[in-house]
Amino acid sequence: MSVKLDSSDKIHQVLDDYDYFLFDCDGVLWLGDHLLPSVVETIQLLKSLNKQCIFVTNNSTKSRQDYLKKFAKLGIDGISKDEVFGSSYASAIYIDKILKLSKEKKIWILGEEGIEQELHELGYKTIGGTDKKLIEDGVKFSPDHELLSNLDEKVGCVIVGLTFNLNYLKLSLTMQYLLKDNKSLPFIATNIDSTFPSKGKLLIGAGSIIETVSFASGRQPDAVCGKPNQSMMNSIKADHESLQLNPKRGLMIGDRLNTDMKFGRDGGLDTLLVLTGIETEENVLKLNDGNAPTYYANKIGDLFEYHNK
Ligand SMILES: [Mg+2]
Repeated sequence: MSVKLDSSDKIHQVLDDYDYFLFDCDGVLWLGDHLLPSVVETIQLLKSLNKQCIFVTNNSTKSRQDYLKKFAKLGIDGISKDEVFGSSYASAIYIDKILKLSKEKKIWILGEEGIEQELHELGYKTIGGTDKKLIEDGVKFSPDHELLSNLDEKVGCVIVGLTFNLNYLKLSLTMQYLLKDNKSLPFIATNIDSTFPSKGKLLIGAGSIIETVSFASGRQPDAVCGKPNQSMMNSIKADHESLQLNPKRGLMIGDRLNTDMKFGRDGGLDTLLVLTGIETEENVLKLNDGNAPTYYANKIGDLFEYHNK
């Protein structure tokens, strides 16, 4: 059964027991553009205690550089690029380090700028993505579209993530590349969250877009790079040897059971669910021990607020 972090004693124990604090961002630190209470103070507290803070996000629309801008804009200072792990970065690293895709090849993107930026930073050329030619406002779709009959021979990999500018042409082009060369091009999914919580609403998530092209092409992704997949955890551990050696000194904090909590648990870390996102206390208390987080709290700012009580 999960322990609720609702007293000064429990918070002091947590601060003693862990050296690494892995944070999901949306639903934990902020909701959209709204910073949650006592977040700045909590991160300052952890840093003052020499704790390692690592920010782990499945939102592939942003690059690590974009995240640094977002942290700064919300008043969370002193975060560096090597503390941020996004699914766009994890996917780019996967293509480079695991697939070892030649830099001569291009990568077809169904997704936003975050993926483009991380791939460009590693020296890859991309097509699709935010290309304006793929958004033809007011133009009726035609199966004769020149791009559909002129696939780029240099494309050697397909990556699909969340995109806010989805249309039939982009989906169809993605399908063509997935079918190309007897379905042999690697198919990378940034993350498989079915929904994207935004401004109090649940919108379409990357997983739902991936399902569409997956169903159409009859293919499953060869790799999923976001939480709860462990490729992201492995790249975090590769950067932090003592977490690798002793994962129990790490605490994964998030607002989702099926991604954040599973990600931490599968990586051998303890877990803390916060109730500022999509889960409720009632649901947490119904979980069996195998699925229950180690701890839960009303909000992440409670770490700071109870510490100072
Ligand atoms: Mg979240």
